[in-house]
Amino acid sequence: MSAEAPLGVTPAAAAAEGEEMVAVVDEMAEEAAVWCAVHGLVVGDRAEPRSGTIPGVGLVHAPFALLPTRFPASFWKQARELAPIFNDLVDRVSLDGEFLQDSLSRTRQVDDFTSRLLDIHAKMMEVNKEEDIRLGLHRSDYMLDSETNSLLQIELNTISSSFPGLSSLVSELHRTLLNRHGKVLGLDSKRIPQNWVATQFAEALSMAWTEFNNKSAVIMMVVQPEERNMYDQYWLINHLKESYPFIICFFFCCNVELKTLAQVEAEGQVLPDGTLVVDGQTVSVVYFRAGYSPNDYPSEAEWRARLLMEQSSAIKCPSISYHLVGTKKIQQELAKPNILERFLNNKEDIAKLRKCFAGLWSLDNEEIVKTAIEKPDLFVLKPQREGGGNNIYGHDLRETLVRLQKEQGEALAAYILMQRIFPRASLTHLVQGGVCFEDLTISELGIFGAYLRNKDKVVLNNQCGYLMRTKVSSSNEGGVAAGFAVLDSILLT
Ligand code: ADP
Ligand code: MG
Ligand code: MG
Repeated sequence: MSAEAPLGVTPAAAAAEGEEMVAVVDEMAEEAAVWCAVHGLVVGDRAEPRSGTIPGVGLVHAPFALLPTRFPASFWKQARELAPIFNDLVDRVSLDGEFLQDSLSRTRQVDDFTSRLLDIHAKMMEVNKEEDIRLGLHRSDYMLDSETNSLLQIELNTISSSFPGLSSLVSELHRTLLNRHGKVLGLDSKRIPQNWVATQFAEALSMAWTEFNNKSAVIMMVVQPEERNMYDQYWLINHLKESYPFIICFFFCCNVELKTLAQVEAEGQVLPDGTLVVDGQTVSVVYFRAGYSPNDYPSEAEWRARLLMEQSSAIKCPSISYHLVGTKKIQQELAKPNILERFLNNKEDIAKLRKCFAGLWSLDNEEIVKTAIEKPDLFVLKPQREGGGNNIYGHDLRETLVRLQKEQGEALAAYILMQRIFPRASLTHLVQGGVCFEDLTISELGIFGAYLRNKDKVVLNNQCGYLMRTKVSSSNEGGVAAGFAVLDSILLT
């Protein structure tokens, strides 16, 4: 008997079983790609230049894992429980303008982008701008650290949290595949949790629109001029339009307008009473799917648009304060001793949050910089950026730290250091561009959260579903849109 064959299984039987598995995998991969095409689990194809600007042109199935990834139910429960606590925390921190300005004061000296965001924030502080209605559509991301067997937070996204549309579909895809092939594979589709994030985010947007209480006002989605992930956004719009026909018909108008920052600048104005009017339409909710990256502000026009919206009485998702709370620097500040206590009262909630914090350090800590130079593989160096592909690892991390230290001055303040999390790798079938291949992978679980508040009334504070992303374990970064990871769902164990 060969060393690989399990006890009691002849090599011939094992080989036959192996061949059967290959056949099942091939069949499933094709079936899955067809499912994506007919159910809208699609993205714009990089190979087609118009795919980011013209809807319906140059579509390709979103990259996906063929089968859901196993995930312990206890950690799943823990991650879900954290969502409303993080929602609450974001809201509380957003109200402390001094804390945001002070914590980011050194960063602003070396990071132009953060500095511009802080300028807008400072302007709002000067005029005591209050946001009575506050809407947060967040996503908190986690990895399971194999060394400590714990769920640790990677980051909290407060702006443009992506994949509420497509992630629901991946769970559906996996359920469909397991309903058909689960017996052969020994996997039960019922262990894939329901994932209704698209409908729940649409509901949160509609509830914000209701709180705004202007029947003729529109929800405006601010998008990038080129967006290959546009179907994720269209799914949300689709749910809004389909699930709230009563509102649309009864109130005549709950249209969703898509605008770029440049269009908002060209067509927008704020009336003396604070009303935001864009292209002749009163805006109730501004939902940002752009504005999180310096590339979104190629000229002063985009910055003027961001300021204009912030000055208005429209509900901003996120407001400039919510946006800043989601920066890496604030994540690191919140992890310092006694800081959570400034914002939250409930000791159990504080303990739950702290349990999921990985090691986070500011680079004015010379001891930790020295350790990171000695052992760069145990750390991740992060600038104040979003969207994937910005972090620094390993050899580059060491070189960067040594160089920044030599430069003296404040250069180090642009970054934070984070403990590197090491999830256990497993063999997974990935499907990209119609090609199925097997590789060693690690996964990152994101839990979506929605928060809506009107003055003292918390209208909504929920977890709303999940995004599982799986990537080849040798890749450092994790974004799906950035091309590093595939969409996935989970199979509770
Ligand atoms: P972004 O806002 O650009 O998404 P993240 O902090 O999420 O920034 O980092 C991007 C990716 O880098 C993550 O999706 C994850 O794959 C990887 N990553 C980030 N922090 C860590 C960490 N501490 N340990 C291991 N991998 C990490
Ligand atoms: Mg992010
Ligand atoms: Mg991220």
